[in-house]
Amino acid sequence: MTPVPYRVVSRAPETADTSTLLLEPLGASIVPRPGQFNMLYAFGVGEVPISTSAGPDIGGSLGHTIRDVGAVSHALVRTEPGAVIGVRGPYGTTWPLEEARGCDLVIVAGGIGLAPLRPAVYHALAHRDEFASVCVLVGARTPADLLFVRELEDWRGRFDVELDVTVDNAGEDWHGRVGVVTQLIPRAPFDPENTVALVCGPEVMMTFTARALLARGVPKERIAISMERNMQCGLGHCGHCQLGPVLICRDGPVFWYDAMERLMEVRGL
Ligand SMILES: Cc1cc2nc3c(=O)[nH]c(=O)nc-3n(C[C@H](O)[C@H](O)[C@H](O)COP(=O)(O)OP(=O)(O)OC[C@H]3O[C@@H](n4cnc5c(N)ncnc54)[C@H](O)[C@@H]3O)c2cc1C
Repeated sequence: MTPVPYRVVSRAPETADTSTLLLEPLGASIVPRPGQFNMLYAFGVGEVPISTSAGPDIGGSLGHTIRDVGAVSHALVRTEPGAVIGVRGPYGTTWPLEEARGCDLVIVAGGIGLAPLRPAVYHALAHRDEFASVCVLVGARTPADLLFVRELEDWRGRFDVELDVTVDNAGEDWHGRVGVVTQLIPRAPFDPENTVALVCGPEVMMTFTARALLARGVPKERIAISMERNMQCGLGHCGHCQLGPVLICRDGPVFWYDAMERLMEVRGL
């Protein structure tokens, strides 16, 4: 339960309310796997769960992409380079990249959901020969809400990855697609019978994305989603993130959709 002190190396704004902190350890290093989260502690303010958006495989530093929604996230996104925060982790389950070996890998992100999926994209790029095809579908409310814009351009330029981006609403200066991310699924190039899908975003987006994947023929038990509920300990002790028979921190946050479909109708505590 004791946080490791980490120094903020850099703070990069991604959108108006979201920034990525890159961190270096002042004690033992935390080495997360794609999909896992850490408890980040803004000293004197509080502690919140935040997925890792960068690990040793992306430039070496530990990265978290944080949206400013309340007291703790506000304190974190305002932390200046050089300042120290506390980090506990890594916690939770991982994206099923082992299970996806030999399959088409479909990654579907909505809004800030691209942050927890970013390490999975980098893993797929670094081990590209392990997957039949790699397809990344990204949606955001507006062009200004898109995360990692430069990286999206890099991925678009690769011949071995299929990237498609859409926004819900845009002005005339946007020349890309307009519409919700689920609309990209019917035409996305993957073989539903040999696909593993990784999905992250608001719960309603994950539900509709899962339904669109099911409609294409991807089985429920090959669709992974990442769940969010308010957490306190992150370790399965306090029960704060209980959802029916599962604790999101201990049994998740990454679950197969078939285990979560019904429970996703239950509101968080
Ligand atoms: C496993 C996991 C991974 C997460 N990864 C990220 C991430 O990569 N980046 C990121 O920005 N956020 C992430 N979150 C959400 C983040 O933990 C919350 O935004 C944060 O706890 C809010 O705390 P606060 O004190 O800033 O705001 P609060 O004052 O606690 O809340 C502000 C508002 O946000 C709502 N809220 C609080 N916590 C959550 C939550 N967990 N889910 C949905 N709504 C919530 C509250 O109801 C309230 O409306 C993750 C959450 C979990 C459980």
